[in-house]
Amino acid sequence: MRMTREEILSSLDTALAEKQFVIYIQPQFNHATKQLVGGEALVRWIHPEHGMQSPVDFIPVFEDSGLIPKLDLYVFERVCEYQRKCLDEDSYTFPLSFNVSRKDLLLPDYIDSMEEIRKAYDVPVEYLRAEITESSAVMGGSEHAVEIINRFHELGYMVEMDDFGCGYSSLNALKDLEVDILKLDIKFLRGHVGGRGGIIISSVINMAKWLNTPVIAEGVETFEQADYMLSIGCEIIQGYCYSKPLPADEYHKLAVESNYM
Ligand code: C2E
Ligand code: CA
Ligand code: CA
Ligand code: CA
Repeated sequence: MRMTREEILSSLDTALAEKQFVIYIQPQFNHATKQLVGGEALVRWIHPEHGMQSPVDFIPVFEDSGLIPKLDLYVFERVCEYQRKCLDEDSYTFPLSFNVSRKDLLLPDYIDSMEEIRKAYDVPVEYLRAEITESSAVMGGSEHAVEIINRFHELGYMVEMDDFGCGYSSLNALKDLEVDILKLDIKFLRGHVGGRGGIIISSVINMAKWLNTPVIAEGVETFEQADYMLSIGCEIIQGYCYSKPLPADEYHKLAVESNYM
């Protein structure tokens, strides 16, 4: 059942204290080799009365109200906890991406707080990748975004530009920001292969190649689309054709199995 804005805002603290937020992980596959290469952590709210809530409904509410950093740090902690568990079991070694809201990055000590958490769980940065949206760049001014990315890089994090191509200034963002990976959501560009959408997608892939920046294609729902992406040089796929986001333990099973293949 959908919660109202007031319900969402007033229940954050209880929800955090009672661990109602959990991470789901959507696997990322190399479509050329069919191998798992990593995943993205996506938050879910399992509300005791209202049931499972979609981040599409509650994330914007927490963003508007300035409460999002609390939730994102909580999610980041769950990601570190998960990676620590895997490292302890020696079960696998795939990196996980996590979302950083543009509002988080306006807090001067947000990355310090992340680092405290990461150190507490003793997770090497190679296992963690920060996803920022291109609009983060516009939001605080691109100078601020450059600083943020430099800071992440100094600490050793890879930075992914999420939802590339969905904003109005993708090309500007790309010019100014030295991100390590581009995430291209083909949902917004899809159309007939060979149509305008197809031309834009393949141009982005080419441009990314020239920039030496790998691309992850998101929102890929059919293997036909995945084959098309591969044919134009984009191997990494995150989409329903392979898997929806999975509860962390299901993802874990998949990861452990694929590590022994
Ligand atoms: P996003 O970061 O762009 O994440 C990708 C979204 O696309 C996910 O939706 C995923 O389930 C969906 N998706 C993946 N493959 C497909 C596909 O083939 N077809 C379709 N139709 N959808 C696909 P989800 O999990 O509902 O998350 C929605 C958005 O909520 C995320 O978009 C992100 O902006 C935000 N979000 C989720 N978790 C967090 C979080 O921990 N912190 C913050 N700040 N935002 C989050
Ligand atoms: Ca994302
Ligand atoms: Ca995305
Ligand atoms: Ca997004």
